[in-house]
Order: sequence, then C-alpha cells, then structure tokens
Amino acid sequence: MQKDIATPIRTQEILKKYGFSFKKSLGQNFLIDPNILRNIVSHADLTKDSAAIEIGPGIGALTEHLARAAGKVVAFEIDQRLLPVLADTLSPYDNVDVIHADILEVDVKQIFEEQLQDYKDVMVVANLPYYVTTPILLKLLMDRLPIRGLVVMMQKEVADRITASPGTKAYGSLSIAIQYYMQTEIAMIVPKAVFMPQPNVDSAVIKLTRREAPPVQVIDEEFLFKVSRGSFVQRRKTIINNLQSSLPNGKAKKDLIIQALEKVGVDPTRRGETLSIEEFGKLSNELYAEFH
Ligand code: SAM
Repeated sequence: MQKDIATPIRTQEILKKYGFSFKKSLGQNFLIDPNILRNIVSHADLTKDSAAIEIGPGIGALTEHLARAAGKVVAFEIDQRLLPVLADTLSPYDNVDVIHADILEVDVKQIFEEQLQDYKDVMVVANLPYYVTTPILLKLLMDRLPIRGLVVMMQKEVADRITASPGTKAYGSLSIAIQYYMQTEIAMIVPKAVFMPQPNVDSAVIKLTRREAPPVQVIDEEFLFKVSRGSFVQRRKTIINNLQSSLPNGKAKKDLIIQALEKVGVDPTRRGETLSIEEFGKLSNELYAEFH
C-alpha cells in the first residue's frame, strides 16, 4: 500500500509538486496525522456496504482513509486547483468520486438518487471548512437526507454549542436545531499541531447520530426553530421579554404569550437557556395558531 497522503513529508511533497498555496478564505487547514484520520474514520463505523460523503477533500488525506473503509466515497471540493491533485493522489482508489462543487449549492438529494441508492447506509465524514460549518450542517439536516449520521471536525467552540445541554452557557438555538434531528457527542478534541497550516482556534470532532424520532412532536419545525431563536435574542433577558420582542405583534399580545408559557408549565421569568427541546416544542405548538 502507498504511503499515507497525510504524513507531513508526503503532504509537503504533494503541495510542492503542484505549487499549491493555501487559501485561508476557503478554510484550508489540511490534516497531516494519519492517526487522527484513522480515529475519525473509526467513529463513523463504516463497512464496505456503507457510502461516505466528504465535504472538502483537500489533497485527499481523509478521502483515502474513507475509500479504504467504505464501499463508495463522494467528495465535494470547491477549489478547482485541487482537482488535478486529487486525481493524482486518489488514483489508487476506484471507489471515489470527486465532484467540483460548493456543497451549499449542490443538490445532494440528487446525488443520493443517482449514486448512493445501493448502499446500506450513508455517513457524512469531513474535516469541515470552519467558515461555513453551521450552514453546511443545517443544509444537510434540513434537506432530510437519508444519512445515518455525521462525524465532522469543526471549531471546538461550535462543537460545544452543538452538543450543549440546557442550563449551560453554550446552549442556544444551534443546540436545539441540531439536537432536534440528531443525538450529539464530542468524539475527540484535536490539537492544532495535526493541521497544516495550524488554525488559530481549537478543534473537535463531533459525532451526530440520527434520532429514530424527534424528541417532541411539533406542528411545524420551522416555527419551533423560530421560537427558539427568538428566545435567545438577548440571552440575559427572560423568555417572556424575548418572545414579546421576537414574535409578530408580541408586545400587544403579551398576555397570550404568558398564557401559552403557563399552559406548558414554563415560568415566564425563566431564561431561554433553561428550556429543554421538549419544552420549546410544546411551547411552539401552543403559540403556533396565534403567531406562525
Ligand atoms: N479534508 C482535507 C483534510 O482534512 O486535510 C481538507 C480539509 S480543509 C479544513 C476544508 C476543505 O474544504 C478545503 O479543501 C476547502 O477547499 C474545501 N471547501 C471550502 N469551502 C467549501 C465548500 N463550500 N464546498 C466544498 N468544499 C469546500
């Protein structure tokens, strides 16, 4: 088997061969530690019956580990300069398809239908470009793709927010939007030294596993997220104050909001950060008729 792409020496050789210069604006921090890559891939529990979707293959460091573990890999890369590099570095693998695209623009559902139908399950595994972590995750989850889960590297601060529990400083509307669909856990904290160039922020890998059913039945998911976002606009304010400002005509309808809060057993003087997803769900159902 060929030397791993992700050793520091081979990465340097590849970058030199292609005269590649990193673009900070594309979040290009490549992994140069095969142990970390093996560890990431092991968290995805892939078999040859699985397919993997990768966002941002870079020079293929993670891609080749996925190609070894999964039956098929589809990787989306925005930077055209990397296409000839990937064609070269991934040439030993015949189960990888690199697509030149911005993941935020691409119709991933269509890719599922065209290429991934025959696989038992599909995992998203990526060292994400940090500048678009949240939009990428929300797109993949809201598109309701039939993915089993995600194992993704991101800025640690965002990982903390995604996995946060009620009552903590990191808990907010992002925790709710993701945890509504997925069970979340931090799989590992990753040192800066395993990247080239090293990022300015700390990193973590999180594992998201699709829930069998959402933690609460809601009338309208969009409205649940609207209510939760509106409850965190000013974190230090009470939920009644935030909802008055964020719901349409909320100031005039204060009494209706208080009634809804009391009906679902939430004291109006609590802060948004203390409410569980279940409480937000019940509250959004109560407010729906009047405010959606
Ligand atoms: N997977 C490689 C690794 O771990 O070494 C590279 C990871 S690097 C953090 C992020 C990669 O995402 C870069 O290759 C970058 O060009 C690519 N990228 C950035 N924005 C993207 C987007 N919107 N769609 C697809 N790829 C993107």
